[in-house]
Order: sequence, then C-alpha cells, then structure tokens
Amino acid sequence: MNIRFWGVRGSIATPLTNADLSDKLETALQAVLKAGLTSDRQIPDFIRSLTWHIRQTAGGDTSCVEIQAGDTLLILDGGTGIRRLGLDLMHSYMGKIIEAHILLTHTHWDHISGIPFFVPGFNPNNRLILYGPFPGLEKRIRGQQVPEYFPVPLPPAFKFVQLKEKDHFKIGEVCVETFPLNHPGSSHAYRITYSNKTVIYATDSEYKDVSAKALKPFTDFFHNADLLIYDAQFTLVENIEKEDWGHSNTFYGIDIALESNVKKLIFTHHDPAYNDKKLWEILQKAVEYLNINDPDSNLQVFLAYEGMTLTV
Ligand SMILES: [Zn+2]
Ligand SMILES: [Zn+2]
Repeated sequence: MNIRFWGVRGSIATPLTNADLSDKLETALQAVLKAGLTSDRQIPDFIRSLTWHIRQTAGGDTSCVEIQAGDTLLILDGGTGIRRLGLDLMHSYMGKIIEAHILLTHTHWDHISGIPFFVPGFNPNNRLILYGPFPGLEKRIRGQQVPEYFPVPLPPAFKFVQLKEKDHFKIGEVCVETFPLNHPGSSHAYRITYSNKTVIYATDSEYKDVSAKALKPFTDFFHNADLLIYDAQFTLVENIEKEDWGHSNTFYGIDIALESNVKKLIFTHHDPAYNDKKLWEILQKAVEYLNINDPDSNLQVFLAYEGMTLTV
C-alpha cells in the first residue's frame, strides 16, 4: 500500500505564520554563514543537512490521508487536505473516471470541511463513495452544504455507504474493519488490510485509563499492524489538563504501539498551537521515551507532514 499525507493538522486549518517563516529563514541563513558555502552546487546538500523544522513544515491542512492499495483508491477523512488531493487526482487521471472510497472517522469540521472543495465531485461520471460508522452519515454530509453554509449542494458523484459501529467489509481486495474510539460525539478507527499488510488509522481518541486491561480492546484492534496512524495532538501534560477533549499524546501512542506489536507509528492531528519547532521537539522527546522504555524495540516513530509518503 502506498500512503500519502495531505492534511495532518487537528481542529482547524493552520497556515504557516510570517513569524515562523522569518524564524526558519534566519536560522537557515545563520547556518549558511557557519557552513561557509561557496557554490550553488552545495545548496541542495546543505538544505538536506538542516534540521527538519527549519527546512520543512508539517503543513496547515486538516485530516486527509490517501492510500493506494493495488487498483483501489482509499481516502481517509475529508479535512481541508482533500482539496489538494482532488486537484492531484484530476491531474493524474487526466479525464479518466475516478473511483475513490472515502472513509470518514467522524464529522467534526476538521474531518469533512474539504469535501465541498473536492473537485472530482463535480464530474457526475466519477464514483466517490463516502463511508461512515456513525449514525446519519448522509444527512450530516449533505447538511454541510445547505444554502446557509455553502452555495452549492453536494454533487451527485458522491454516494453513501452507512456502516455499523464494528463493521467488517471488503472494497475490492481490501479488507476494512471499523472500531469505536473515545471522542466527544464519537470517532472511529479503520483497520485496512491488503496483500498481507495492515494500516490502522486511529485519529481523534483519548485513552484516559492506560492500564493494559483498559487498553486491551484497542490494542487487540491495532494488533500486528505494519503502520499505526495515531492522534498525538497534545503533550502528556496537556492531555491531563485537557481531560475529555478526546485526544492523545506521543507517549501513550508509543505504549499502545509497543503493546500492539505495531511496526511503524506516525503521529498526526497536530495541535494548531504547535509550530514546526515544537512538533520537532515533541518527536525528539517521544524517541527518547521509546529508547528509555524499550531500548531493544524495532518500533519506528515519525511525525506526519504534508506530502509525506511511505509504502507498507
Ligand atoms: Zn479532529
Ligand atoms: Zn474530532
């Protein structure tokens, strides 16, 4: 499966600020002086040598992940990131029919507000199937595009498949399972298996009781996944301060991934208050935590960012 991240921000879209951009430039230019670059040809290597938060950004679009599983195109959530995914698909399909299976975790705005801007929706020949295990899927999605909120109703290219809370079904050769998470108004994880590889998408979830017993239903669902995409919106301290907000942190993510025997763990749903530097620091602390708690572990941890691609 080929995975690509189009939106990794939680709660609300969060463009890079001018202050953060100036910081990045200043730090990079100081590094240029220190490195004593003398030729244009040294620039690409120099840029690659910079710390991630100086040369890149996590991006500001909200939740959207693309998975290509053989010939089947899956899209996880329709946050603002789905807008650019739509443009990319229009370009790569070059007029051919687009069939996409859009799996929604829940209908908080950061997971659906890109759907009205998903350009493939405007071609009635395309097949765009929205799935959701929460009640009233179709009513909720259509409700986002009533005239009071949006000038255009949901186009006919969109179809709906209402799922159950714990569902199990196939899309072509892809197996999909759903599982309820702890989140205000509910959110749902997806377990996606294709060609003996498994990806879990588990965003918008809080784990208040982190005893093995309380976590067992989740660790059973996540078990042996090749990749777990995990909501780590907060730091551990903030998670305690913001009890019942329905999100998690990197430390719990590592505990849960280790208990579930997951191979790769990607943190997503970044808080709008965190800039790239802060996200980088959070990742460094998470790696330290993993190295202290389980130095022999093969678990790999990453920070999700827009444009990130990987294959499992
Ligand atoms: Zn969210
Ligand atoms: Zn939510």
